[in-house]
Amino acid sequence: MSSSSPNVVLSYADAAAVVLEHARGLSSTGREVEAVPLLDSLSRVLAESVLADRDQPPFDRSSRDGFACRIADLEASWPLRIAGLLRSGQDWSGSPLKRGEALEIMTGAPVPEGLDCVVMVEHVTVEDGHVRPAQGRRWTSGENIVPRGAEARAGSSLLLPGTRIQPPQLAIAAACGRETLRVFARPRVAILATGDELVSLGETPLPFQIRNSNSYSLAGQVVGAGGEAVILAAAPDRIAAVEESIGEALACDLILLSGGVSMGKYDFVEQALANLGAEFFFTGARIQPGKPIVFGRLPVQDGYRYFFGLPGNPVSTMVTFALFAAPLLRALAGHSPDSWAPDFREARLETGVEAKPGLTRFLPARATSGFDGTTARLQGWQGSGDIAAAAEANCFMVIPDGLGPAAGDRVSLLYL
Ligand code: AMP
Ligand code: MG
Repeated sequence: MSSSSPNVVLSYADAAAVVLEHARGLSSTGREVEAVPLLDSLSRVLAESVLADRDQPPFDRSSRDGFACRIADLEASWPLRIAGLLRSGQDWSGSPLKRGEALEIMTGAPVPEGLDCVVMVEHVTVEDGHVRPAQGRRWTSGENIVPRGAEARAGSSLLLPGTRIQPPQLAIAAACGRETLRVFARPRVAILATGDELVSLGETPLPFQIRNSNSYSLAGQVVGAGGEAVILAAAPDRIAAVEESIGEALACDLILLSGGVSMGKYDFVEQALANLGAEFFFTGARIQPGKPIVFGRLPVQDGYRYFFGLPGNPVSTMVTFALFAAPLLRALAGHSPDSWAPDFREARLETGVEAKPGLTRFLPARATSGFDGTTARLQGWQGSGDIAAAAEANCFMVIPDGLGPAAGDRVSLLYL
């Protein structure tokens, strides 16, 4: 614990609001942009607008297999003579349809001018080159025809900067003929684990040593939030060593530290940050797990670098990343503000849970989703060091400060 860092402990909501305020202050001007082949844009953040290169649909499109005709003829003079057949990918090149005629037409084919209705093949009988619509049905003008430009007008904006590219966005970009898209470069995120007990994956730990697992969970979460993970060598619990590693981390766009932010005699992270001129926005949140979470920024030549000091207990590290670091990273990555927040979803609680006064809790849980909703129950765990329980869980149940929820109550789940 440092004498030169303040002691600012906030509620979950207040701490989250502080992070969001800083996220809003990040501007997208000057952010690096790169052009990538369409498929490589999956999960990336769009840095340009995608405009419709022509009307969508580009012609009056039949949305059913059936018979194109005039609605007036349907009402007056049926059965209608079948004048021809039009497949998708073709244009009608025969003579214009006369009164009392219909054109057999396939889904996706352009409805010839003058025809204002497509009767579904399921709703007619065909006999002797004539088509007879089913009795007792009513027809409306424009039925089963999507007019040219109904979905989008040429030149209109279909995707905006800040959109995360998912399969529907790939589809619309492809429909506009885009072989490449301009996306924001991924922010580089330094991951610096601290702790004398840590050994890296290739090493054989002595009985009292611990493998560095946080750097891997964090790297996975960083990639998920749109960043590029830069894993630095773990730093021992010495102020000078931590300061030196932070100096290295400053080359990145965001700094994540794990461990060394509690009250222990060898928790030097805040002291090291303070020595480098850090500004601290909070140094704790009333949450479990993850109470010692630290958020601030360090001065650099071109401005400052934000950092999070995440508690080292592996479950605390993951939860505090999801709650606080992920929103700021999504902002840095260029995501539109409506997608910055942690991924909270609602579920029905299977069995009651006790609250702890004064703390918002995020406990490992298993949720089961179905068409009619999601139910969730707590996963047994041994506390915030229990990665085995976190790995068995598929989300974290939010237990608000106050009364514990009872069986059947609605609860929020946090997804990493
Ligand atoms: P600290 O936050 O440094 O007090 O560490 C809290 C607990 O988390 C201790 O049991 C540490 O051994 C463990 N821990 C800290 N850093 C890591 C890490 N990178 N990987 C796995 N466990 C860690
Ligand atoms: Mg430690």
